[in-house]
Amino acid sequence: MPTFDTLNFHNRFVSLPSDFYSRVTPTPLPDVKLLHFNPAAAQLINLTGHETDHNLADLLCGNTLPTDSQPAAALYAGHQFGYFVPQLGDGRAILLGGIESELGHWELQLKGAGPTPYSRNSDGRAVLRSSIREYLCSEAMHGLGIPTTRALSLVGSSLPVYRETVETAAVVLRMSPSFIRFGSFEVFFYRSQPDAIRTLADFVIQHHYPELLNSEDKYPKFLQAVITSTAKLMAQWQAVGFAHGVMNTDNMSILGLTLDYGPFGFLDHYDPGFICNHSDQAGRYAFDQQPDVAAWNLTRLAQALTPLMSVADAKAALDTYPAIFASSYIDLMCAKLGLPADKSNVPLIMQLLDTLQKNRIDYTIFMRRLCDFNSAPDAENSPLRDLFIDRAAFDNWATSYRTQLRIVYSVDTKRAPAMRSVNPKYILRNYLAENAIVAARDHNDMSEVDRLMQVLQQPYDEHPGMEAYAAAPPDWARHISVSCSS
Ligand code: AMP
Ligand code: MG
Repeated sequence: MPTFDTLNFHNRFVSLPSDFYSRVTPTPLPDVKLLHFNPAAAQLINLTGHETDHNLADLLCGNTLPTDSQPAAALYAGHQFGYFVPQLGDGRAILLGGIESELGHWELQLKGAGPTPYSRNSDGRAVLRSSIREYLCSEAMHGLGIPTTRALSLVGSSLPVYRETVETAAVVLRMSPSFIRFGSFEVFFYRSQPDAIRTLADFVIQHHYPELLNSEDKYPKFLQAVITSTAKLMAQWQAVGFAHGVMNTDNMSILGLTLDYGPFGFLDHYDPGFICNHSDQAGRYAFDQQPDVAAWNLTRLAQALTPLMSVADAKAALDTYPAIFASSYIDLMCAKLGLPADKSNVPLIMQLLDTLQKNRIDYTIFMRRLCDFNSAPDAENSPLRDLFIDRAAFDNWATSYRTQLRIVYSVDTKRAPAMRSVNPKYILRNYLAENAIVAARDHNDMSEVDRLMQVLQQPYDEHPGMEAYAAAPPDWARHISVSCSS
């Protein structure tokens, strides 16, 4: 039974030349406490004996290093809100190393374990509030079936951390097959170091796209793979109603994973212009901008890869993005409506989104209730209809929907379970996260985090007794917008 202390580390990231990272040591935290542990993530690295680690909290926040760990902070650059910043890097994330299991290779990273050479003037810490948000949301996204980094544990400390107010420090141990970002390539393009770009591309291809290893045009194919996975990720974000909030190129995963949870938010009422990050006054990262922003970010990545391929090859790959995004999004939305994936359903989808927007209808609640739509001609469908003040708006759309269902001979009882498997009942609404944060921070009560974790890890299931966690936000929480300072 491997304990955390005796995990067998394979530290492949630090096998890269030292241009790519700095070796660092976590800075100890006072009065640490293991606030939450996620057995689902522990399973991925065969961690079963952690209960016998007498100093588990110390191990999971970097106060004590596991025997084989070789901690390091990665170097990267990035375009932040459209402007290039030549050097960023892990300012508060410290990679412990990698673990191989039958479920793949997992890099283990501490977020908030103290300053690194890339911290600039910041403290290298993360506050409890934002750590709870990342811990819950990364597992919620996984539960939704959306590619994401994972979270193993949450450790709290009494260390004061100065943000807009004084808060306390926490550390999330994150896991991912890789934390390499678009910005990991951009930094070497800016520095005119084509050899480093090639080394890093070869590293990513070897470990994550091995099928391309012997291909003649492996670099354009690598770019194409990133474009494809990113386009599909955007389709999933848009279909579920997730806004990331800070889609800078340093927060874009080379594997198409949701990465770096900050001021993210899920849509409550359907609002395409939703801005979850209160520092983003211009709405650069508004909900409906995300697919285009991802394309812009991919163009920055493609540019950084031009030492490895012709501009024409890079452009040809980029040109595939809109169609991949559109077809993935249409497929997902058709499935959410219980219809076969077909472009002919686009007008119905557009009409629905327009109706939901105009009537300020809660997106998740509507879609979940839609699973029980009664397609009989005289059915009123009052659980849906009653969400609308303008009942005629719903009736209009329902008429179109019924027609479409009839064309494909859809059977209500068969459609309903299929729809429930793609329309979640539970999402991490801001007010739910906020309640869990207040309980943890003000009352040392982790039971809200615990209950949320249970429903969010299985968001498509019914959880008897937990219906309150599927409710629309109360009035006090309607306009929570989240600060970037985390
Ligand atoms: P983010 O917007 O959180 O993805 O962070 C952008 C950059 O700022 C990254 O290089 C982070 O490592 C760095 N950063 C953010 N917060 C801190 C902090 N408290 N201490 C050190 N570096 C930070
Ligand atoms: Mg970041």
